Amino acid sequence: MNDIKLALLGSKGAGKSAVLVRFLTKRFIGEYASNSNSLYRKRLSIDGRQLNLEVFDPCSQGVESRCILEEPVKWANGFIVVYNISDRTSFLIAKNILCQIREVRVESSRGDAEVPVCLVGNKQDLCHVRQVHEEEGRSVAQENQCYFQEISAAENYQEIANLFTKLIRQVMEH
Ligand code: GDP
Repeated sequence: MNDIKLALLGSKGAGKSAVLVRFLTKRFIGEYASNSNSLYRKRLSIDGRQLNLEVFDPCSQGVESRCILEEPVKWANGFIVVYNISDRTSFLIAKNILCQIREVRVESSRGDAEVPVCLVGNKQDLCHVRQVHEEEGRSVAQENQCYFQEISAAENYQEIANLFTKLIRQVMEH
């Protein structure tokens, strides 16, 4: 599969746009106006294969609602679900999104609940005001059979690059 379609999902303010902009530009953009759905395209080479990467960054308003999630969940073939480690509500929303991805994929014609998903705890630099322990994130990821990583879009490019590469490899193998 040379067309890789990823969707970034999570509550507003979790840092989805910051993570994506960091991956695409290596830079951290402190304030990023993201009040609408955005689709980013990038050509890249992984393991010697030329890939067309598309990443959907939906407007996160009401993202926990089923009808808003349906479109990106049916469209993408890999997901990054982002929460903010200093905001427990964003973690609860991320848990809900993981369930919804499974439900929508099973019910839709894709019938593919085992789609590659990565659960990401962002804002690791704010660990002094952490509301979600790393172990909680890890255990929710295990329950949902997905990969887990804590990152900081503000501080670390390489972890984010590794995360995207890992997920893209999983999508290629899927
Ligand atoms: P989105 O609504 O999920 O797309 O969230 P944004 O990417 O717009 O980020 C929301 C806010 O969190 C912005 O003020 C960002 O600067 C900030 N932010 C994003 N990632 C980080 C991070 O890793 N650390 C810190 N301290 N702030 C972050």
